[in-house]
Amino acid sequence: MSPNDHLTDSQKHMRDEIEADLDRAEEQLRKAHEDARSRLAGFGGEDDESGAFCFTCRFTSHPCPGYEKPSSGGLGPCKRSTCRHPFLRHDVL
Ligand SMILES: [Zn+2]
Ligand SMILES: [Zn+2]
Repeated sequence: MSPNDHLTDSQKHMRDEIEADLDRAEEQLRKAHEDARSRLAGFGGEDDESGAFCFTCRFTSHPCPGYEKPSSGGLGPCKRSTCRHPFLRHDVL
């Protein structure tokens, strides 16, 4: 008895499509981060190796060295006042 036995065939189909879409999106983002990381390899400055920096802030005079979760929880914008960029702009994947 599988936990999905209560789903109809069209619900299963919808679930599979959602999963496939999310997998694709995650893969693309992972790839974008990977490309950004290799482009930044020669950029200099700190945090080249450690990861968890903000890709957008790397080009400002006040780089964000890491994502700080908002106290409200969730994956909202970085809580650093100099950053405030969204979670996914950070090298956190
Ligand atoms: Zn940040
Ligand atoms: Zn930032």
